[in-house]
Amino acid sequence: MSFFASLEMAPGDPILGLTETYVADPRPGKINLGVGIYVDEQGRIPLLPSVHEVEQALAAAAKPRGYLPIDGLAAYNRLTQQLVFGAESPLLAAGRVATAQTIGGSAALRVAADLLKQVAGAGAKVAISNPSWGNHHVVFRTAGFELLEYRYYSAASHGLDLAGMLEDLGKLEPGTVVLLHACCHNPTGVDLDAAQWQQVIGLLKERRLLPFVDMAYQGFDQDTEQDATAVRLLAASGIEAFVVANSYSKSFSLYGERVGALSMVGADRGEAERLQSKIKQVIRTIYSSPSTHGAALVAGVLGSSELRARWEEELGGMRGRIHAMRAGFVEKLAALGAPDFGFINRQAGMFSYSGLSKAQVHRLRDEYAIYALDSGRICVAALNHANLDTVAAAVAAVTR
Ligand code: PMP
Repeated sequence: MSFFASLEMAPGDPILGLTETYVADPRPGKINLGVGIYVDEQGRIPLLPSVHEVEQALAAAAKPRGYLPIDGLAAYNRLTQQLVFGAESPLLAAGRVATAQTIGGSAALRVAADLLKQVAGAGAKVAISNPSWGNHHVVFRTAGFELLEYRYYSAASHGLDLAGMLEDLGKLEPGTVVLLHACCHNPTGVDLDAAQWQQVIGLLKERRLLPFVDMAYQGFDQDTEQDATAVRLLAASGIEAFVVANSYSKSFSLYGERVGALSMVGADRGEAERLQSKIKQVIRTIYSSPSTHGAALVAGVLGSSELRARWEEELGGMRGRIHAMRAGFVEKLAALGAPDFGFINRQAGMFSYSGLSKAQVHRLRDEYAIYALDSGRICVAALNHANLDTVAAAVAAVTR
């Protein structure tokens, strides 16, 4: 009998499962709106010219590959802090931020969860928006947290349930970690405006909750500054401690390079130094140190004012296309006499909770070879001028 004989099959990832069904679908003209990445007008993952330029320079001056320090490339961490907290951030000036390069935003979440569990001990609790990105739950559960949910999405308005959110956050025990999406909420596309953030942050402070901002889409809604509003307001709130996990997977179109960072804010410089040492300890026990190439690409772009400006433009191109696809989709649906989908223009980022029911999603798949998630989440970035009419006509037909 094998050592592994008692192992059961782990449940499959529903999104990857959908992609497999899509790939196996023989129908020509099939369309996949279930993806979680940005693709361009031709349906391809872009290689940003600013990134490509740094890559060529790196190749021309190829160096041996030693290990990076446990917490990654120093220039990358410094530039990340400036992007996430703002170049003029008083927190940075005061030395209150500990930052480590991580293997995508995913490892930032996991490293932070492990460290927070050490601090919070047996009663560690995390509150996650309902709904949220599926990995949030498994990462915190695996780290030993009890999972709680707060209301977030209103199916009736296709927008934010602010009253429900405040009521649920108001009931949490002090010391509970509250996971927040900085912008471009995955999966709903529903975000808070600055005034709503102020209300939420006021409550987090009053209830002594620990804000944990997941920023995986900085620059995908307005621009890199605006999209960091939650972080800016937290920094100005007087809250002494909070956490930010950020990712460059989408904003640099560097999915496979696994580039992200974890930043933890402490009350003073000494606390930040202790946090830095603890972050390194956790990383050491999981993957020892991060990889070199992706961080060198990001640091190469962010560290040059000329390339940084070009990257901001390229990022603007991606979000401009998303906005145009949202507007075009809503317009075409209206022209076809479908129920009102205007809310899609108020949602932000790559994803939209379309409001389509599971039955409607299944009809789209079975009758029209258009793939979306059972929850109704669609990837707006998967729309383009070539497929917009087809998708709009199919959605109009199944919602009639
Ligand atoms: N947080 C959210 C909300 C995400 O959607 C994602 C990516 N799908 C991540 C974190 C992790 O990103 P990465 O690919 O950089 O690990």
